[in-house]
Amino acid sequence: MRLFTTTAGLLCYLERYRNGKDVGLVPTMGALHRGHFSLIERARQENNLVIVSIFVNPLQFGPTEDLQRYPRQLEADQQQCERLGVDAIFAPTVVEFYGNHLSSSDMGIQVTQVVPPTSMTSVLCGRSRQGHFQGVATVVTKLLNLVQPERAYFGQKDAQQLAIIRRIVADLNGSVEIVACPIVREASGLALSSRNQYLTPAQRAQAPILFQALQQAQKVFKSGEREGMSLIETVKSELAGVSELQVEYVELVHPKTLTPLEQVEDCGLLAIAARLGTTRLIDNILLYNRQPIVAIDGPAGAGKSTVARRVAQSLGLMHLDTGAMYRAVTWRVMEAGIDLDNESAIAELVSQSQIYLTNEPQAESALTPQDSLPLRYRVWIDGEDVTQVIRSQEVTGNVSAIAAQPAVRRELVKQQQQWGCQGGIVVEGRDIGTHVFPDAELKIFLTASVQERARRRQQDLKDQELPIVSLEQLEQDIQQRDIRDSTRALAPLRKATDAIEVVTDGLSITDVTEHIVNLYRTLQAIPLSLEV
Ligand code: AMP
Repeated sequence: MRLFTTTAGLLCYLERYRNGKDVGLVPTMGALHRGHFSLIERARQENNLVIVSIFVNPLQFGPTEDLQRYPRQLEADQQQCERLGVDAIFAPTVVEFYGNHLSSSDMGIQVTQVVPPTSMTSVLCGRSRQGHFQGVATVVTKLLNLVQPERAYFGQKDAQQLAIIRRIVADLNGSVEIVACPIVREASGLALSSRNQYLTPAQRAQAPILFQALQQAQKVFKSGEREGMSLIETVKSELAGVSELQVEYVELVHPKTLTPLEQVEDCGLLAIAARLGTTRLIDNILLYNRQPIVAIDGPAGAGKSTVARRVAQSLGLMHLDTGAMYRAVTWRVMEAGIDLDNESAIAELVSQSQIYLTNEPQAESALTPQDSLPLRYRVWIDGEDVTQVIRSQEVTGNVSAIAAQPAVRRELVKQQQQWGCQGGIVVEGRDIGTHVFPDAELKIFLTASVQERARRRQQDLKDQELPIVSLEQLEQDIQQRDIRDSTRALAPLRKATDAIEVVTDGLSITDVTEHIVNLYRTLQAIPLSLEV
């Protein structure tokens, strides 16, 4: 592992070692704990090079805040990073990072700063921490410009920071993917934070009240309460149980826009800031007002699409057929007469196209004999019904070339996520649980041994009266495909850490469907577990 304290050193390292590899950046202020580790571990899984920045950024501290006493422990942090397989730490001094322009008294007026929308900085922590998010926006933008990572990792713990950074990247046309990681907590429920070090033992025993209050509100929410006032009151009355706690705010906002909500429509962020003595604590939970999302990922040949369709039928949910979406845009591109390798023209066309699917729950009897196209299953693109034509040989022949184009994928993931807002869908693919719907309530990783998949493939060939390929050859092909799928840059196959693995060797489609349906029903019956 390398340690760089200058931008020159870091840039030189990146020039030398990047070579087209994916870079993941984890920005931190150091004093690393398990919360940070979870970000680093995720970055390690998803990238070839992992850079952790450690920089206590003066621009994001107010004049009366804890800049001087903020914990600094570079040596211990270095050891942890080494253990976690980090490739390089970037830990510049203030002068190295900002030049000589930043003096402690002028609040950065001589430094170019990034100003996020006021609507996002005037709520929650922004009310009391004037200039804080401008400081965060500036440091993060500088780090992103320097490292130019493919992905950058942030904790849901700082939900306002996360929303603002996402917005900045979108508004300034950044190309980095912002990856949100769940809050890591102590067994008591207290969210890990570098500032927890300031708490006395007595305060540490009181601090879990924040999470307990949020859990109480979640219970009330689950019983049907959607009114912001009532949810906020629930939190406040719980917090009142610790008289030493000075509550700064309890607010309900939309997690993306941070607009205050009178009631939870699709999703709400319920957030608290409070002080115990001089220590400021924050915590939050997301409240989803939607039916669950079932995300099914797994290698080729594990039976994902049939299982997804059957699970959707059994549960009365929509099967969001992402394959049909790729087929629809392929048809649209062919219809428009655009060359398949004219990626920019395809990107323009696809970004202006709207796909619409209907796939209401079907009785088994309503299925066509091939069990592939339920009667009410329809696919439209730009107002045209393409349900049948997208199954043509021509579309089948071209769909993988189109699906491999990053712009096409970006647009379709966006459209899939729009469907996800209402929930109640079953989706299958390779990175649905890790990338498209990381918040899915039920994640399944459907797999089968290479031998079993080869056997199934051979049976398919027989059924379709196609030339038979030997099992050895099929096994080799499958192994190679698995390696390709899990190492490719675009939508690599990965099991989400919170996915349930279902090995389908020796199980029928009906067995697998039943198993997933039961998992879903269990999930409905018990309150969602929170990250502990
Ligand atoms: P900080 O060092 O406090 O600036 O945090 C660096 C990153 O770690 C931010 O993206 C935080 O949101 C994230 N982080 C801090 N604490 C936690 C936690 N308990 N769980 C998950 N992420 C966290």
